[in-house]
Amino acid sequence: MLGELPAPPAPGTAGCPKHMEYGPCGGVGSTGRCEVADHACSFLTLAPVAWHGSPAASDEHARMEADPAGAPSPPRAAQRLRDLMREHPIVVADFPARALDGASLAECAAAVAGSVDAVLAGDAGTARVQFPPAYRATLLRHAGVEPWMGVNARDRNRVALEGEAAALAHADAAGVHCITGDHTRIGSRPDAAPVFDLDSTELAALMAGAGHLVSVAEAPLSPPVDARPGRLLVKQQAGAEVCFVNHAGGAANVATFVGQARALGVSLGFIPCVPVIVDAGSAALIRGFTSLALPEGYLDVILAAKDVRAAGIRAAIDLSLRMLDIPGVVGVDLSGGAAAGRELDFARAEAEIAQGIRERVS
Ligand code: SF4
Repeated sequence: MLGELPAPPAPGTAGCPKHMEYGPCGGVGSTGRCEVADHACSFLTLAPVAWHGSPAASDEHARMEADPAGAPSPPRAAQRLRDLMREHPIVVADFPARALDGASLAECAAAVAGSVDAVLAGDAGTARVQFPPAYRATLLRHAGVEPWMGVNARDRNRVALEGEAAALAHADAAGVHCITGDHTRIGSRPDAAPVFDLDSTELAALMAGAGHLVSVAEAPLSPPVDARPGRLLVKQQAGAEVCFVNHAGGAANVATFVGQARALGVSLGFIPCVPVIVDAGSAALIRGFTSLALPEGYLDVILAAKDVRAAGIRAAIDLSLRMLDIPGVVGVDLSGGAAAGRELDFARAEAEIAQGIRERVS
């Protein structure tokens, strides 16, 4: 596999376009190619890097004292969500509202409120400019849903992220999902400078230090596959409590990954992604996810059905139930997004799936 690709300029951080300390990211191609550069991923042949904190980005000494900050005040919603996960499996839904659109946010939140336990609202390749996470968390909470907010390390440095951590706690965010983020060369804003002062593991530590319930992502089928469970253990050591498992081709693959991670000592809760496809637009959108692997025939069967929406809802419920049977799994994430103009219908479909799961689980 590696022999067919140019070797990375240097192994580890120096050769990684995202300057990752705890790579690799989830965007490694199936051949081992870097997500954005024309060479092998710099971490492809390295063992997971042991947790050693977040190195400073510069050797400079501070030229003035920082104002003393008060002790972090953990959001109360985080503990509520922890308690909920102990009581029963939870259903989280990727939040489909249009970016920068308060009205769309309110109507999509109303559609899923009372059906899902939390909404996961984060980055989108087609809409890199979003309301800042803490502001969006405030809007979502006012709209009646528990906000589980995605934060990436691509667009802001550690200073801005520390401010965001405090604001998210003030906004009473239920969870904070920490990702390194796609490179700017992927998605709608390649004109922007990539930051990557931290990576997802370092960001997890920062958010955990602020008292948040921290989730991270792991992509079981992204090379180097054998290193993925060990890399998750490092994220747990940094402070993560939950792992969203990227689309990995079905329940059997997820079970294998979760089993391997637990055998290494990973004790965090697993929330596998379940693809939601209810029309041609949502199918096209999910095909654009990095490291996507759907169960064999999943997409074709849904799209060939007379009633695509009903088939998509049925398939998502069935797959969710199989995921919830896996030891260590504490919930599912209804994953995907809507084509432009279809956001509300997508949210309604998510609510129907969540209700269907509840009826069968209870
Ligand atoms: S695939 Fe990701 S981790 Fe690997 S070198 Fe490229 S950007 Fe860095």
